Amino acid sequence: MNPLPAEQLHKTLDNPKLQVAIYDATGRLMDKRKTSIQPSAIEDFQSYRDQANLIKRHAIENLDFYLEQIEENVTRRGGKVLWARDAADATRIVLELAREKNIRSIVKSKSMTTEEIELNEHLEHDKIEVVETDLGEYIIQLAHEKPYHIVAPALHKTRYEVADLFTEKLGVEREEVIEKQTMIARRVLREKFLAAELGITGANFLIADSGAIVLIENEGNARLTSSAPRIQIAVAGIEKVIPRAQDLATFLKVLGRSATGQPLTVYTSFLSGPRRPGEIDGPEEFYLLLIDNGRTRVLADKDKRQSLYCIRCGACLNHCPVYRKIGGHNYPWVYSGPIGAILSPQFHGVTQDPWLPFASSLCGACGEVCPVKIEIPKILLQLRTEVTRAKQREGKDVWERRAFRAWSWLMCRPKLYAFAGAAGGMIFGGSDSKAWWKKAPLPFRIGPLQKWLSQRDLPPPAARTFRQLWRERKALRDRTP
Ligand code: SF4
Repeated sequence: MNPLPAEQLHKTLDNPKLQVAIYDATGRLMDKRKTSIQPSAIEDFQSYRDQANLIKRHAIENLDFYLEQIEENVTRRGGKVLWARDAADATRIVLELAREKNIRSIVKSKSMTTEEIELNEHLEHDKIEVVETDLGEYIIQLAHEKPYHIVAPALHKTRYEVADLFTEKLGVEREEVIEKQTMIARRVLREKFLAAELGITGANFLIADSGAIVLIENEGNARLTSSAPRIQIAVAGIEKVIPRAQDLATFLKVLGRSATGQPLTVYTSFLSGPRRPGEIDGPEEFYLLLIDNGRTRVLADKDKRQSLYCIRCGACLNHCPVYRKIGGHNYPWVYSGPIGAILSPQFHGVTQDPWLPFASSLCGACGEVCPVKIEIPKILLQLRTEVTRAKQREGKDVWERRAFRAWSWLMCRPKLYAFAGAAGGMIFGGSDSKAWWKKAPLPFRIGPLQKWLSQRDLPPPAARTFRQLWRERKALRDRTP
């Protein structure tokens, strides 16, 4: 059981530059999304969310059928589908393939699934050079960090930090202009593309009825990764499958807008198998690696399986007041923000990071903006219940349970409850101190309750209780002719 990373959290909260960077970047993405879904920009955006939800629900409810269909169609087009039960299985498959084909250099485009299975670390351990080609991913790879955000992995880095990083790692002159930094990365990455023998991409969608893999991006690096090297592997979670090509029209309407406020991203590539005779580019060999890694466990839960609808747009992160304060690296897994708070406990078990489902104000913003309408707040509440039950089974949080039992005992005795309220009001009522509870009986000042109160301003009890006010008002009304 991992404790709340309190020290690391406070480092983020106490870093004003980082706070501004997170707040500005997520704020910009929120504004762009808002503008892009105005009725003047798209008619009835909400109906596309409904459609996206229905398509995903249908695909997930019939996942076995569509997975078989995509395997059949990818194979028919000359590709090969590989299946991995978990992260170890997936990395073993890629490593064995790289060894068999004598691969020494790999280029990669952005893929959260490969982050999830820590593919780079395994390849590097085997002395294979692997280079991220998305600019944000390249920056964090140089910095040896994890993505800070699903869509914007280097969201927390200022251009000055990137300038220092490029000088230190690439030996170039310090350059603070973003466009010039981009050109530096582009020059380095061009060479890597030309030398790479294997390209590893993710997949935004897998189209079952045609066997096509869809890549959505802005930089063109995924297209190069899938076309320049001799061999390509597309790594995807099994939940990425959608039934038909025409379903994509709905997702293209909602994904770009929700992620970056773009009506459409710059590149949408459809890959279907290896290069065919007469084609001038594309890989000679094509593999689709489909990963379970806990997804079928999520699928088995009727209430929470909607978590698998996620299309990784990042909108819930941008709108989450908690993510906007604590950033991406305080979450225990690669998936951060509200989607991370519901995925991680389901993949790893609720007892691994029991604080995670509670890292939410339950304001509901995540559910409001999710383009596939995942009911994130509802799932958070279900996970909280599971955490509480697990703790109960393990005999943890005894004091909290006793306190609530005492509270419920009191609430069931109206006369005693009224007396206690009046007594509390008489003793502490009207206190102007936010820390009135320091004068309270011993149980308030020790243990977890004291810790809880040290982070919050608990209003002092009112001088007069609700019952007293009600009686007074009623008497006044009765006297009024
Ligand atoms: S849960 Fe919804 S809003 Fe969050 S990343 Fe996934 S699709 Fe986007």
